Amino acid sequence: MTLFEKSRGVGGRLATRRASWAGDDGIEHQVGFDHGAQTIAARQPRFRALLARAEAAGVVARWRACVHAAWPAAAVRDVYVALPGMPALVRHLARGVPQRLEQTVQRLHRTAAGWQLVLAGGGVAGPFDQVVLALPPAQAAVLLAGHHDRWADALAAVPMAPCWTLMAATEDVDWPWDAAEPDRGPLAWVARNDRRPGRGAPRGVATWVAQATPAWSAAHLETDPQDVALALRDALSALLPARSASSQPLRWHHSSVHRWRYALPAAATLDGRECWWDVERGLGVCGDYFSGGKVEAAWRSGDELADTIAAGLEAAAEAMETAAAA
Ligand SMILES: Cc1cc2nc3c(=O)[nH]c(=O)nc-3n(C[C@H](O)[C@H](O)[C@H](O)COP(=O)(O)OP(=O)(O)OC[C@H]3O[C@@H](n4cnc5c(N)ncnc54)[C@H](O)[C@@H]3O)c2cc1C
Repeated sequence: MTLFEKSRGVGGRLATRRASWAGDDGIEHQVGFDHGAQTIAARQPRFRALLARAEAAGVVARWRACVHAAWPAAAVRDVYVALPGMPALVRHLARGVPQRLEQTVQRLHRTAAGWQLVLAGGGVAGPFDQVVLALPPAQAAVLLAGHHDRWADALAAVPMAPCWTLMAATEDVDWPWDAAEPDRGPLAWVARNDRRPGRGAPRGVATWVAQATPAWSAAHLETDPQDVALALRDALSALLPARSASSQPLRWHHSSVHRWRYALPAAATLDGRECWWDVERGLGVCGDYFSGGKVEAAWRSGDELADTIAAGLEAAAEAMETAAAA
């Protein structure tokens, strides 16, 4: 088995980015921001068991987040985060699998010997007996075209909501929450990143991850990132305690934005299955968009596809044994 990943590391939308700035003392400060998925919730027993094992291995930790949300939403959210950053869970699950990083698969080519992967830059990998696409639907659709057009058309039609995300470091602020879900304005989720397990920030610094609503993000998809950063900074400031007229304006040490063009599936539009597997072609598709668009849904889809492929391989091996014995 070989994993091909276009980025420098595995993780995808379970993402963490580092930023740094020079303090007044000239010392460089560095912090991390979980600018993709912030929480991992586990509802199904198999995923709960997997996270319990990962917790025992020190790969994830529970985050009992005190969340300010519109009444009567629950005030404490009991979820997991990965340590030290969100990609750590994917790295843990992919350990032992040979990885080819910074390799964008541009095209699939089916030959008599198996699947070949045409890579950006002109390289070709393979042949492989089976190919599994674990990509956002629009990207999977491109690779499926010409090989499985019905799947490609279905995936091209899956609506994905965008998300502009602000990563900011300010002076410390007396804010009683770990996170908030504003019920108006551009922001859907604001978290004190430094209060998440295993994070932290330099003394006197607060770090923030603020995610814009799908509607605001869609309306500002092509807006200049600097303007987006200013608008989201204003929205974040408005959620912080009012500062007295005599005090200085809030001090910003760092702010940047990331645009997720494909953040979350906007609606469940597929056929109700957890994944797709075409045994004749040796071609499979899995991803969060099959059921619910969250980390747990992504894992469940991949798990289901792995079980399906393994069951097929076992059945084929048994059939060969039976034929050989006859
Ligand atoms: C801003 C944001 C907030 C979120 N918040 C939450 C949350 O709080 N809780 C939650 O459960 N979920 C959340 N999610 C959703 C969650 O991150 C996803 O559901 C989950 O990570 C999807 O996993 P996946 O493996 O299906 O896809 P991805 O994580 O998108 O992984 C796909 C991978 O394929 C790679 N790739 C793409 N095209 C190619 C190619 N051609 N060749 C090679 N590699 C390629 C990508 O680089 C990526 O690493 C959030 C997502 C975003 C963006």
